[in-house]
Amino acid sequence: MKKIAVMGTGYVGLVSGTCFAETGNQVVCCDIDETKITNLINGKIPIYEPGLEEVVKRNVKEERLTFTTDIPQAIRDAEIIYIGVGTPMAESGEADLTFVKNVAQTIGENLNGYKVIVNKSTVPVGTGRLVHGIVSSRSNGRAPFDVVSNPEFLREGSALYDTMNMERAVVGATSDHAADMIIELHKPFTETIVKTNLETAEMIKYASNVFLATKISYINDIANICERVGADVTKVAEGMGYDKRIGAQFLQAGIGYGGSCFPKDSKALVHIAEQVGYDFKLAKAVIETNDKQKLKVVSKLKSIFPSLKGKRIAVLGLAFKPNTDDMRDAPSLEIIPELVKHEADVEAFDPIANRAAKQFFGESITYSTDLYKTIENADACVILTDWKEIVEMDLDKVRRQLKMPILIDGRNCFDLKEAEKAGLIYHSIGRPVVE
Ligand code: NAD
Repeated sequence: MKKIAVMGTGYVGLVSGTCFAETGNQVVCCDIDETKITNLINGKIPIYEPGLEEVVKRNVKEERLTFTTDIPQAIRDAEIIYIGVGTPMAESGEADLTFVKNVAQTIGENLNGYKVIVNKSTVPVGTGRLVHGIVSSRSNGRAPFDVVSNPEFLREGSALYDTMNMERAVVGATSDHAADMIIELHKPFTETIVKTNLETAEMIKYASNVFLATKISYINDIANICERVGADVTKVAEGMGYDKRIGAQFLQAGIGYGGSCFPKDSKALVHIAEQVGYDFKLAKAVIETNDKQKLKVVSKLKSIFPSLKGKRIAVLGLAFKPNTDDMRDAPSLEIIPELVKHEADVEAFDPIANRAAKQFFGESITYSTDLYKTIENADACVILTDWKEIVEMDLDKVRRQLKMPILIDGRNCFDLKEAEKAGLIYHSIGRPVVE
């Protein structure tokens, strides 16, 4: 059993802290956001993440998991301090390290004995050393400490499962002792440990995310060619995916990647490369393809309606992917303002993310959690997120509800034959149009 303090109680901090508690450690999750902590103390989970609430509540009840804004006290009491604060994108494209630096200062000021400081936030190569320097100067040699990089690979929407069943843990450390402590902590989650130095661990995280983003932009480019040559990208991806060197995952063509990680991490890696004099052309192309891909559903709509003015468009899905209410860099953030700019009348359906989305779209659109009502009388229906409810919708009913039988599917949720049978005009990504 270790005493762990987690700095930052967001998607990463809350899930990791909960899983460390679940495996028998004493965990305190800390945040500067008082509302978040008060809500958590009162049993309210600030994010939508399947299964999380139950595990949080169990660990709180069994007194292994607590929440606080008293960060200095949490630091003083801990043996291991995890940093899981946000590293948003600065205007230049680089990662903004303000929150990480603030935490490092507070740790330094409150260092009262040997501690292992573990960075879980996604940070540019060199940040581990930077944290070491800040803690060192703020603690004035009061106590020894080590810094470890232990990047996070969870996926929102299955974060709990991903942590409890992680495929590997990456542990980059300045000392064997510290590395061994963190490896031990991960034994209940995985036997596969990649032990390395700080810089390599930091690089593994960016290299992984940008590789996944590359796969998505690659298949989207292939989809765009498929549309011009009459091929079907879903079959192309299937045919490619059986090759173990390629793998079937992340080959779903669509309207591009979004979320809190891929967009900012790909830009951050381009920036890291620039800083060391390397022009990472491939990552730049991945970003460019993705930026263009998001607006494909709008251009498909415009190819049908010369003017979108006054057209009632039902938008299905606002979150960047299913099973999350996270709106950060969701494709809907680009697509909906474009529809509104063209004076379309947008009614959106999302089972979970409407409240989060309202912060971005305000009153410029209407929101619904009733799928078929959203579609009723619409001139066209556009799918942006492949929520289960959407993938499983009854296409005959969809056609009956719509004023015009037009379905633009940005996530390739349906079989072409199914759409044809339902009598829909069906435009998807990288596949022939059904008319
Ligand atoms: P988040 O924005 O959901 O949470 C960050 C939390 O840190 C916020 O609650 C914020 O109030 C808190 N915070 C800021 N400054 C603080 C301080 N000084 N002390 C204590 N708390 C403080 O962010 P997230 O999505 O959990 O991401 C955290 C990091 O993990 C980022 O670097 C991100 O790139 C990385 N990451 C995220 C995911 C993901 O799917 N969300 C996956 C892998 C890695």
